[in-house]
Amino acid sequence: MTAPLVVANWKMNGSEALLRDVAKALVGRRGESDVVLAVPAIHLSLARALLQEGVRWASQDVHWLESGAYTGELSAEMIAQMGASHSIVGHSERRAQFAESDETVAKKANACFRAGIIPIVCVGESLEVRQAQQTEEVVCRQLEVVLAEIPTGSEGLIVAYEPIWAIGTGKEATPEMAQEVHVALKEMALKAGIHLDKVLYGGSVKEDNVAGLMLMPDIDGVLVGGASLSAQGFSELCTNAAAAQN
Ligand code: PEP
Repeated sequence: MTAPLVVANWKMNGSEALLRDVAKALVGRRGESDVVLAVPAIHLSLARALLQEGVRWASQDVHWLESGAYTGELSAEMIAQMGASHSIVGHSERRAQFAESDETVAKKANACFRAGIIPIVCVGESLEVRQAQQTEEVVCRQLEVVLAEIPTGSEGLIVAYEPIWAIGTGKEATPEMAQEVHVALKEMALKAGIHLDKVLYGGSVKEDNVAGLMLMPDIDGVLVGGASLSAQGFSELCTNAAAAQN
């Protein structure tokens, strides 16, 4: 069994001091979980200097073009130059607050492959969609648009299933609910000719609920927001994720 992938999404939070604390807390825990820190772009160069083998760093977004007159933006190539291995794309906050469409998210995922970094594509449903029992339809559609855009034979695509109602609310999906959606996503991707090696769950994951999630056969890791902002807590979360799989 491969080690679970634990991705921290700091959003617009954190500091150099936190990055130093997290780097220190993770020393000696490598190998337990595969860890990626999606820090604010301003901290990527410190991440590169501090993080040790087994802990990688990522951006939280990329622009879909390589360069140009796009003030304030960063291209996937620039992120790759910072030594980042991954980028989150299509987080629900960006979809909602920056009006990112499925098509924009697909172009961003494509840009990551062009630049040689792995996109972590977020999909997820609102509470209304879940209550209307349309979750699988909605998340599969979000992913389908991405699969149609990325080059055939692209390897390593990571999908994060993040129900919007679970993000930052303390109301996580049950392991069974997440498992069901992960299976639907993997089956849909397979029909499109893509084997999804890693589907992560995100939404109110903490040290004390990660183990239950990781027991599910199709939950391959987690995307963690709020709980990644404590060095000690995040380090424990990484340990608990791995312990559940052993
Ligand atoms: C997220 O924003 O990706 C997330 C999962 O946040 P939280 O863990 O705080 O719910």
